[in-house]
Amino acid sequence: MNYKVGVISGDGIGPEIVNEAKKVLDSVGAKFGHKFEYTEILMGGASIDVHGVPLTDEAIAAAKASDAVLMGSIGGDTTTSPWYQLPPNLRPEAGLLSIRKALNLFANVRPAVLYKELKDACPLKDEVIGDGFDMVIMRELTGGLYFGERKTIEENGVMKAYDSLAYDENEIRRIAIRGFDIAMKRNKKVTSVDKANVLDSSRLWRKVVEEVAKDYPEVTYEHMLVDNCAMQLVKNPRQFDVILTENMFGDILSDEASMVTGSIGMLSSASLNETKFGLYEPSHGSAPDIAGKNIANPIATVLSAAMMLRYSFDLSKEADAIENAVKKVLADGYRTIDIMSEGCTQVGCDKMGDLLCERI
Ligand code: NAD
Repeated sequence: MNYKVGVISGDGIGPEIVNEAKKVLDSVGAKFGHKFEYTEILMGGASIDVHGVPLTDEAIAAAKASDAVLMGSIGGDTTTSPWYQLPPNLRPEAGLLSIRKALNLFANVRPAVLYKELKDACPLKDEVIGDGFDMVIMRELTGGLYFGERKTIEENGVMKAYDSLAYDENEIRRIAIRGFDIAMKRNKKVTSVDKANVLDSSRLWRKVVEEVAKDYPEVTYEHMLVDNCAMQLVKNPRQFDVILTENMFGDILSDEASMVTGSIGMLSSASLNETKFGLYEPSHGSAPDIAGKNIANPIATVLSAAMMLRYSFDLSKEADAIENAVKKVLADGYRTIDIMSEGCTQVGCDKMGDLLCERI
């Protein structure tokens, strides 16, 4: 089949890592009889340089016309790049917020996987790590505290600031459904994380999740308070399959989960809406410090492409082929500089892409 893939190469290492992901996709296409047609879309600093704004209406239209969007990363060095002299709404990151909103990408999926070959990079003890872990954080992305009403006022000469955390049941239901759907494609366990002992929004969250769970009798689910979840992630990360949570808790927990894997260059992500459409990108940034040196790790972007095949195109076998190629390349001892360890062979960004293609 033919698939239309919008491609946001972005800034910094973005073009290098996206190039490798496209090479791997093309190898998958050749093996399984698919064609991926790429449309380049400008966003972030690359768009500012050409159009003066981080995202144009034409770019949004091109993204909407695609079956899915694959992205590298946007942004530059926030202290030295001229992009950060611009007002906040014209800086590179504003493009990302705008595209999430324009495409209604309310569900953020971030796997945190520790491969046994990369155990040395994990800051946790061996007995905690065991054979490694493999979980997904499903974070609500367009509601809650970050999108609620806010104001700062002065009362009797004292400054006071308000942020409001609101969720309606429909917002909770649609992310919960996404979470349970993804659990069905994995190990069928959902841990719904909230602060129901204190917050009304969390009590509603819990009630709606319980309703949704009834439609998924095969999925085991539990509720966990967010403070406990933060502890459990370092105490026993192997207990988790899908962690389902609201925007701010997910923001914090997904960073914690990715740090316990110890290798940011390996972590993929997807942002999904109610259709099959999704925006797929590595969890890391544009790494301006290593841009143009051909040393970036392309694996997070390659694994994001695998997520695109699995979630937007329903191509599970093809996604498995990419994920297995990553495992093989690690087992064969090849590493980019960020995950290098003694006895392994260090390779650059493009060589890593070639090695992955050979293993598809
Ligand atoms: P970063 O993730 O870009 O880099 C942090 C460190 O990790 C750096 O030392 C970098 O060299 C290293 N690193 C990151 N990805 C790597 C890879 N694939 N291979 C090897 N090493 C890698 O975070 P930062 O430095 O805080 O941010 C840099 C820019 O990226 C900023 O402009 C920031 O706003 C932007 N950013 C964009 C996104 C996004 O596009 N979604 C996300 C986060 C940060």
